[in-house]
Amino acid sequence: MPLTKQLTVAIIDSNPALGRKDCFKKDDPPDPRVSTVTPATISFFKDAGAWQYVQQHRHAYFDRMQVWDYTGLGYTRYNARDVDKEVLGCVVENKVLLRSLLSCLQNTDFQKTIYPSMLTSMTLSPSLSSMGVDGTSSGTTMPTCGGLAKLELNDGNSLYAKLVVGADGSKSRVRELAGFKTTGWKYSQNGVICTVEHAVENQCAWQRFLPSGPIALLPIGDKFSNIVWTMDPKESSDCKSMSEDDFVNAVNHALDHGYGPHPQSQLFGGGNILSWFRPDVTSSSSECFEVPPKVVKLASERMAFPLSLRHANQYASRRVVLIGDAAHTVHPLAGQGVNLGFGDASALSRVIAESVAVGSDIGEVHLLKKYEADRKPANIAMMALLDGFQKAYSVDFGPLNVLRAAAFHGAQYISPLKRNIISYASGEQRLPLFS
Ligand SMILES: Cc1cc2nc3c(=O)[nH]c(=O)nc-3n(C[C@H](O)[C@H](O)[C@H](O)COP(=O)(O)OP(=O)(O)OC[C@H]3O[C@@H](n4cnc5c(N)ncnc54)[C@H](O)[C@@H]3O)c2cc1C
Repeated sequence: MPLTKQLTVAIIDSNPALGRKDCFKKDDPPDPRVSTVTPATISFFKDAGAWQYVQQHRHAYFDRMQVWDYTGLGYTRYNARDVDKEVLGCVVENKVLLRSLLSCLQNTDFQKTIYPSMLTSMTLSPSLSSMGVDGTSSGTTMPTCGGLAKLELNDGNSLYAKLVVGADGSKSRVRELAGFKTTGWKYSQNGVICTVEHAVENQCAWQRFLPSGPIALLPIGDKFSNIVWTMDPKESSDCKSMSEDDFVNAVNHALDHGYGPHPQSQLFGGGNILSWFRPDVTSSSSECFEVPPKVVKLASERMAFPLSLRHANQYASRRVVLIGDAAHTVHPLAGQGVNLGFGDASALSRVIAESVAVGSDIGEVHLLKKYEADRKPANIAMMALLDGFQKAYSVDFGPLNVLRAAAFHGAQYISPLKRNIISYASGEQRLPLFS
């Protein structure tokens, strides 16, 4: 932002990719770790000047999504045209997101230094009174000023900063060193991720809820898709160790007839109910259920991650603030984790700019609490929703199955609800309520 260009920024990250100068090519094998970025995140990248770099690499916009479950009782299809948009989101490999942000940093004119090292300790001086920080000079400085945060790195460097932004993931060292408590639990589920190949290009995002968790098939460009498959830890180790052919068969089984039948459109009136009330409607409500494209080959290693929910009880104190997974870790079933983090980054950058504009100290707690007040309700709402979904699908019980099917049908056939769900999932609306 023009207002914050004068700040000096130090980026400390032990990820070896940060120190690497090499570029990857468009036809390199896909990274099995991908993110589904929402239109709100795409706008944030565009504003920061980073989206142009994403576009130089493999990425896949999608304008359709189908969600269904193993009971055969319901399905929902979302289409970007339901909300007068061209796309619902874009799937981007994590290495592309990282490289694009780095290219943007390198080509943007402000003072920054990248430290490819590990944060080992952080101490905060108790008082600001003696230090003479005016809030408009650099964010990192020399140790002559008191009252700053002192960071020590494992390469022997020490840094002093007015503001430490803990963006160091779910096991955040910054969070721990700042003494922020968390609330949360582990799910007895792992996420298995990998890249697969089809005979034809996939252009839709698919998600099917199975008895042990959802499986998502996300287009990533060319003839590749990414799989995010949630299952119990024993199943995940079997999935990792089985032969490639067996795994491909297991994926096709899970995305087709396995565990239960295809949904019947006519069950609650299906596609026809809409035409009774709204013969004019041509939205996705009238689209039939489709079977996803068959997977023909495994195209990457299979990785498994334990899944958990964790939320920091506070995001901010004097000189320290948390964003991204350091503040909140959510279930990946709706691909929202990284988007919540970019939402935090966007909100925090606005608060910092406001502070610079009025000449106050960017590490002041009352300012950082404004950021916390803005983001906490939005993050908690999304966490609660995802946790509710996870729990609703942990039980295979007749009446509950029918209730879930009714929810699917509501989401499929009640247009205002459908529009609200899409806007909420796109990051453009705060809560999934009727407007
Ligand atoms: C199986 C799975 C699938 C997922 N799929 C999606 C998806 O489709 N869409 C989506 O939006 N989200 C998805 N997520 C969630 C998403 O990956 C996270 O929300 C996101 O990576 C969080 O970003 P972050 O930058 O906050 O943390 P991280 O990505 O964890 O990054 C933290 C960084 O901090 C660095 N670091 C940590 N400790 C230190 C230290 N002491 N010193 C220096 N550096 C340090 C690390 O090197 C790392 O680079 C998925 C998660 C899982 C587990």
